[in-house]
Amino acid sequence: MEKVNLAAKSSTYGLKLKVSGGENRTVADPVETIERGVVAVLVDAPRHAGLSPVLSYASEHPLAPGSLVRVPFGRREVAGLVWSTAPAEAPRAADLKSIAQVCSDVPPLATDWCALIEFAAGYYQRSAGEIALSVLPPELRRLGSDALADRVRRLRKAWPRGVDAAPADEPRPALTDAQAAATEAMGGAIARPDPGTTLLHGVTGSGKTEVYLRAAEQVLGDGRQALVLVPEINLTPQLIERFTRRFAGRRIVALHSGLTPAQRLRSWLAAQLGLADLVLGTRLAVFAALPRLGLIVVDEEHDASYKQQEGARYSARDLAVWRGRRERVAVLLGSATPSLETWQRAEAGRYRRVALPERVGGAAWPAIRLVDMGRLPRATEGLGAGAVPGLAPPVLAALRDRVARGEQSLVFLNRRGYAPVLQCGECGWLSGCPHCSAWRVFHKQDRTLRCHHCGLAEPVPRACPECGNPDIAPVGRGTERLEEQLAALLPEARIARIDADSTRKKGALEAQLGAVHAGEVDILVGTQMVAKGHDFRRIGLVAAINPDTSLFSSDFRAPERLFALLMQAAGRAGRDAARGTTSEMWVQTWHPKHPLYQALGRHDYAAFAASQLQERASAGLPPFSHLAVLRAEARSVVAARGFLVAAAEAAAPLAAAAGVMVYAPVPLDVARVADIERMQMLVESTSRQSLQAFLRAWLPLLDALHGARGDDAHRVRRWAIDVDPLTI
Ligand code: ADP
Ligand code: ZN
Ligand code: ZN
Repeated sequence: MEKVNLAAKSSTYGLKLKVSGGENRTVADPVETIERGVVAVLVDAPRHAGLSPVLSYASEHPLAPGSLVRVPFGRREVAGLVWSTAPAEAPRAADLKSIAQVCSDVPPLATDWCALIEFAAGYYQRSAGEIALSVLPPELRRLGSDALADRVRRLRKAWPRGVDAAPADEPRPALTDAQAAATEAMGGAIARPDPGTTLLHGVTGSGKTEVYLRAAEQVLGDGRQALVLVPEINLTPQLIERFTRRFAGRRIVALHSGLTPAQRLRSWLAAQLGLADLVLGTRLAVFAALPRLGLIVVDEEHDASYKQQEGARYSARDLAVWRGRRERVAVLLGSATPSLETWQRAEAGRYRRVALPERVGGAAWPAIRLVDMGRLPRATEGLGAGAVPGLAPPVLAALRDRVARGEQSLVFLNRRGYAPVLQCGECGWLSGCPHCSAWRVFHKQDRTLRCHHCGLAEPVPRACPECGNPDIAPVGRGTERLEEQLAALLPEARIARIDADSTRKKGALEAQLGAVHAGEVDILVGTQMVAKGHDFRRIGLVAAINPDTSLFSSDFRAPERLFALLMQAAGRAGRDAARGTTSEMWVQTWHPKHPLYQALGRHDYAAFAASQLQERASAGLPPFSHLAVLRAEARSVVAARGFLVAAAEAAAPLAAAAGVMVYAPVPLDVARVADIERMQMLVESTSRQSLQAFLRAWLPLLDALHGARGDDAHRVRRWAIDVDPLTI
């Protein structure tokens, strides 16, 4: 452990170098010394803060790129990373500050890791400093070199290397033929010098996890590390559990934002020191430093949570593929409904593709039953009130039947609360949010009107705030109301609801899921929280209540998301072939002829993907073009639009030269949130390189524009570029 304290005693025109444990020296000629030991250091500064994120500091010793240091920055001392890229402007020798501490017990981050940061910064148009420092554990940034040395020492002591030669791994099941073929393909890939990316396309319940486990086993057997990414740690407890059970004798660490700062530091260090064999984590774990990396698994690769929605808007899935190529390690993308980008690459032969077409144990795929809501006589609607019909009679009958047979059902409605809006029957008043362009949702449980965008929550008024009419009524339905209606119609059933409201308390989700698994629930009502991932063994029936809403969204990815969600929901039914009952999924729709539902009915992902890709190709949408959006937030529409219009003007010559299309500004779907107006502008190119070159040239102009716009009323408060946006 070495602590360099290069406090410049400029008044005496000498530089005092204090090396702890070493001797103190006074150097006569500071200028010369500084020139010898100038290092570039990355600090956490956003690109448009007017600061260069790569700064120069004096160091007594040459330091390897990737070394963790602490440096004076403004009036504070902050964490920094020694970087190989030199800063844009070298400071005058007299202005040069010295590195305060070198955290030499943390090995320097590898060249490959630094390259990943550089790439992500360039691609997503952020600064390397912002990305690098924001993906390191907060404790690593906060602690000084002594404290870090202590953490490293403790970890090494707890986990001495090379002792557990005989891991007590659990016995493995015999592979199905399809799993065996997939495992062999992965084995071949892993052994190759250039393993590439493999798509594992397998319906839910087809045993993808076992393929991940075998691939990981091979890599661990070679003495390498495996990185397994999952969309959300809370929703994938079973996957984690299966890894920990299978590799009980191995060192497994988790890396996600739900850890305490101390835990996160420990996991990160264990990975970076090469002590951990397996890292399981969410999107941020794609940046884990892994000196012996041999495999990256991305489970549910299509999941939107792999895309960061703020700050550096990176896609962990895409970075995983990039990282795999750069480090020549195998990447395994698994999904029942791959993203169309991934599917297209597999079709084009850029990714290897292996398929698990059958469910393990011969469980049949649930029969899909489409209920044509347009053909239901209004009078026989399951539930009278409200404009939106409730449960269709055949669905209700099927539910009743399952309850009678002691089987579980899942009723899925992607809208929480009791009703999305309250209405006055006299004057037409609707419960809008004063701060957002959205309705406030009626929550009956605590009798509040809540805005799901800005969080404003108020007690429900006793009477219409406009005309005083006491008769204000809920319109439409959310999960709360559905639960209430089901309870009224099926009094014999035990009903539970799982959504963001019912699981707010810590441990509530686990407890509720536990009750479902234990068979204490007959009908589970829930949002997409329960449609994904869970290995429910007792559910025979799934019903999707009102999925049509996203069929005609302005977002071209809405059908892709809906299809994936419905396939996932269907996958919750009939997971246990041994139960011997037939499983089914009911879909209540006004558009049963829609190709999406038709493909769902045949559970034919390939057909759905082909038709979507054809539409995308003819419309020039991704993956056949590349997009970025510029979003602006301001107090007024005028200001937001003004910024975007000026940005478009500044872009015009660049765009023309690069062959990039810049579209007109449009408001976001929910345009105003918490009194902030939000607008966006789409940028499109058929060439990724052209789009990248254009963005690089455009960004400084946007910085200047943002800085230049005069008084507060005309300023945008925030703007950001989103490269490969997931929602538009
Ligand atoms: P997926 O991830 O594709 O949805 P899972 O990996 O969860 O599917 O597998 C579904 C179920 O099948 C799990 O309960 C798993 O334990 C079981 N399973 C997987 N492979 C086998 C096998 N080869 N033999 C027996 N059971 C298996
Ligand atoms: Zn009224
Ligand atoms: Zn609001």
